Amino acid sequence: MTKKTMVVASRNKKKAKEIMEILEGLDWTVMSAVDAGAEFEVVEDGATFEENSYKKALEFMEATGMTAIADDSGLEVDELCGRPGVHSARFSGKNATDESNNLKLLAMMVDVPEAKRTARFVCAATVVFPDGGHFTVRGECEGQILFEPKGTGGFGYDPLFYLPDYDRTFAQLDARTKNSISHRARAFSKVRKRLSDLGGETGFENRSYKR
Ligand code: IMP
Repeated sequence: MTKKTMVVASRNKKKAKEIMEILEGLDWTVMSAVDAGAEFEVVEDGATFEENSYKKALEFMEATGMTAIADDSGLEVDELCGRPGVHSARFSGKNATDESNNLKLLAMMVDVPEAKRTARFVCAATVVFPDGGHFTVRGECEGQILFEPKGTGGFGYDPLFYLPDYDRTFAQLDARTKNSISHRARAFSKVRKRLSDLGGETGFENRSYKR
């Protein structure tokens, strides 16, 4: 069977490589946006991870004419009613850094007792086909917010995100382990399954988002 080509709706070459690895063995060739000549930013103004991932995938599909895959992720803290959520990257303002985001989160959680510090990382991933058909899946990883950062690996909120089953934060786990249990890993393995179930079809199951 001839391979179909999919573009990753992100300027991040590492993300494209990770997705390529996850989708290895399927009849899809995965290409970075840079290699597809589609280097532009999509405004991530959706109210949910799903809306943002769909918006990104749709804009890249429309720009390239190819099937496009996108993801959007972030941290939901229960005691903060799901914040920072879709605002995870810029939680502490326009010039936010990982450090300033973590400091803001710690300050907001200063009086929250351990039992109420539950949180999860969420990743929504969407594939949009050239005919506008699409599907979206979600991966989640449950944990707790610590009172202080621990570990030096990873990025973003990793040093504050503690996994009781591993007795470590994401920042203390080796990359291989993190990448096998993370919200992103879970979402992309669902993508893999859906693409594999579709087989030769570039089918779709939900046109309700179609513009
Ligand atoms: P993106 O949608 O993957 O670009 O993620 C948006 C933001 O969510 C990042 O800038 C981080 O602040 C946060 N985030 C997403 N995934 C992770 C993760 O695996 N570890 C830590 N922070 C993350």
